Amino acid sequence: MKLALNGGEKYRSHPFPAYNTIGIEEEESVLRVLRSGKLSTYLGTWHDDFYGGPEVRALESEWCEYFGVKHAISVNSATSGLYAAVGACGISPGDEVIVSAYTMSASATAALIYGAIPVFADIEEDYYCLDVKSIESKITLKTKAIIIVDLFGQPYDRDMINSLAKKHNLYVIEDAAQAPGAMLNGKFAGTLGDIGIYSLNYHKHIHSGEGGIIVTDDDTLAHKLRLIRNHAEAVLSAKGITDKSELINMVGFNYRMTEIEAAIARCQLKKLPDLLTQRLANTLYLNEKLAQIPCILPTQVRDGAKHAFYVHPLQFDKSVALMHRNRFIDAVKAELPPTLLREESTVLLSYGYVKPLYLQPLYQERIAFGRDGYPFNLSDVTYPKGLCPITEDMHYNRLVTHEFMRPGMSQSDMDDVVSAFKKVWENRKELL
Ligand SMILES: *Cc1c(COP(=O)(O)O)cnc(C)c1O
Repeated sequence: MKLALNGGEKYRSHPFPAYNTIGIEEEESVLRVLRSGKLSTYLGTWHDDFYGGPEVRALESEWCEYFGVKHAISVNSATSGLYAAVGACGISPGDEVIVSAYTMSASATAALIYGAIPVFADIEEDYYCLDVKSIESKITLKTKAIIIVDLFGQPYDRDMINSLAKKHNLYVIEDAAQAPGAMLNGKFAGTLGDIGIYSLNYHKHIHSGEGGIIVTDDDTLAHKLRLIRNHAEAVLSAKGITDKSELINMVGFNYRMTEIEAAIARCQLKKLPDLLTQRLANTLYLNEKLAQIPCILPTQVRDGAKHAFYVHPLQFDKSVALMHRNRFIDAVKAELPPTLLREESTVLLSYGYVKPLYLQPLYQERIAFGRDGYPFNLSDVTYPKGLCPITEDMHYNRLVTHEFMRPGMSQSDMDDVVSAFKKVWENRKELL
């Protein structure tokens, strides 16, 4: 059978079903808000409405209950949530923050926003979260925090990393944007560090178009997070805050979520458990079937963890396939159709993930704010190629990710995916 990459017929050409979690519940809740006329009631002055309107507050208390956490603070994106978290931890210009290079760019820019220097540590070969030994090797007297990412939905190595952080008096900020509902030993991802951040953007498990939630059990951090969200500087005197140490990083923003987004997010949170159950069942099915392809290695899940599978990571074994990963994956992609509602992106299968962050021009040129290279000019940290060898090897040679396990995919849709992989494997001589 001739491969589609070489001009043969595609294994499947009609599109895969859409992943669309928006239904009648969201429609009704949006109408409820619209009819109330109150699309946001936030005030950026010291007033009862400083903490937002009824939908925002209901979402926050429902989020607390679901995730078993003391404070939930809604914001307009996870990016805003990460920025507020770094601010609330009192991070100062020139401080160092250890981050993963294998993540969405905002996990690292959160440090830069406060003039701190991102220091990139390497990832675990099997789980793709920050590796505790690599973190340890990057700690200096200037290190103040670790921003850890539950990458692809896998909870980070909490016991090892939290005790390392405790030993060096570091904050742990957990970017759980990809891991809502993931768990480690019965505790939710997002609640494993000092502050956790979830995303509600369109591409995440559940969404309100845009949005984010910050969670913490720490009253002081929660207080600062709420101030930073809503023009902190404008309310400090009315709140009677005059102590100089309490003014640190209290330059506020407008990170507020609207009532419509909050109303949608409330419906979405109710759907999370079922969506996760389906996603896990689909992933299990695909993981088992795809592992029958000799050059594909299945996902590993950390002991005691429930993975949330934002994407399903697999590894490619070049020594078995006798060709580079990209060649093989390009051939599989050519066999398969796009997914409805995501027609603009190609087939939901990719090699690598994002380019290691330190290879972006921002870090290579060491230019962030202004003409003089602030804040990099405060530091001699550098970002050479080869800095995180495992991250680079995953990205350029080994990692394969796909989203064919999203709820809405039927068993026969998934069987087509598996058959496309098999077709390429069986006809691999055409690619050599
Ligand atoms: C999506 C994502 C973000 C950013 O989320 P937004 O809500 O779009 O700002 C941050 N970190 C990770 C790991 C993400 O996947």
